[in-house]
Amino acid sequence: MNILIKNVHVITGDANDIYHGINNIAIKDDIIYYIGKNIPENFIPNRVIKGNEFIAMPGLVNAHTHAMMVLMRNSADDLTLENWLFQNILPKEKNITKDIVKKGTMLGIAEMIKSGTTCFLDMYYEMDVVAKAVIESGMRANLSYGLMTCNQWQKGHEYAKAFCKDFHNEYNLANNGKLKTSIEAHSVYLCDEAMLRANADLAKELNSSIHIHLHETKFEVDESIKKTGLTPIKQCLKAGVLDVPVIAAHTIWVDDEDLIILKENNVTSVHTPSSNLKLASGIARVPDMLDSGINVAIGTDGAASNNMVDMFNEMRLTSLIHKGITLDPTVINAATTIQMATYNGAKALGFENLGLLKEGKKADLILVDTSCLNNIPLNNPASAIVYSSQGNNVDTVICNGDILMENREFLTIDEEKTIYEAKKASTLL
Ligand SMILES: [Zn+2]
Repeated sequence: MNILIKNVHVITGDANDIYHGINNIAIKDDIIYYIGKNIPENFIPNRVIKGNEFIAMPGLVNAHTHAMMVLMRNSADDLTLENWLFQNILPKEKNITKDIVKKGTMLGIAEMIKSGTTCFLDMYYEMDVVAKAVIESGMRANLSYGLMTCNQWQKGHEYAKAFCKDFHNEYNLANNGKLKTSIEAHSVYLCDEAMLRANADLAKELNSSIHIHLHETKFEVDESIKKTGLTPIKQCLKAGVLDVPVIAAHTIWVDDEDLIILKENNVTSVHTPSSNLKLASGIARVPDMLDSGINVAIGTDGAASNNMVDMFNEMRLTSLIHKGITLDPTVINAATTIQMATYNGAKALGFENLGLLKEGKKADLILVDTSCLNNIPLNNPASAIVYSSQGNNVDTVICNGDILMENREFLTIDEEKTIYEAKKASTLL
């Protein structure tokens, strides 16, 4: 399908070149074919969208979440991470079934699309039904499955390995390349060295990346040093985890040596400010990481600890909390925040041709309403995205050239059914 968006503010996703003025955007099938003042000759649009009251920007990339966990939102709050996880979340997860995961994931996906996310990195159980929900919705995602979490580990290493490989073979690059898979190594506190090494070996064999929670709490780091003499990052280095591309959520309690290891091994850090603040885990050294050239993306984490999956909240917090900590209002400006939430995330998830609103890139983009009260007057469009817009200002969502939402109405998801089924599923946890 060819889509023409006329006279729209263009935010690129590139922090060094963030705003391109008011232009026309021509989308040909799954590619951004043209951005400029004219309309290309021979371009016959099937759809024309008036862009006058919108900002167009790359679809947001939620680089760390557990979509299904929206079913657990508002159920375990104001607790330490250890109490939250071991006394509240893990007992609920004993009740999960494929059906519950599918219905929870659909609700999470619906919330993400409504707030402008077109691509996400997910880690959970029963990832085959997560994949099915993603395919149904039309979104793009990278889905992580590991040896320990595929529920097959108790049947033995080889069995679990075959199970993960089957998942990879079925879903990696599936659905017109919109799906990718990665290997989950949950965390150093749940994976011992042998498990870390086994996951790393599997990732190498499949030419895949690893998705891990790393240095989330001071307790995690202290325990790791007590048990092994190494920080979790150094344990990962020793076990070969950092030999493959790694997407590490949180990375909060890192010392200068850890930062050097992250940089030298091209690890992506995913900043999840809401979850980290809510669980009082701490605040990551994002300005230091950016200064040292580490790729930093942004994620919501699961809604059991956020309690939403709205990337606009995370962008705003990212830019604000570091100003407060450093006492420097110039640190992490709006343009950098937008790049972290788009291009940096896409790169981390292995979608190289994504995350930028530029000619030749994949057509994943959103239109944000500038006519709502909180965006008047507009003044600086990049500032509007980070400081004055909310997820519910997203009007239109396009992924891979397909419209998933228009005028805030879903085109691929039955919203009423999704809500009804999610409510019912949540009572079974
Ligand atoms: Zn997480």
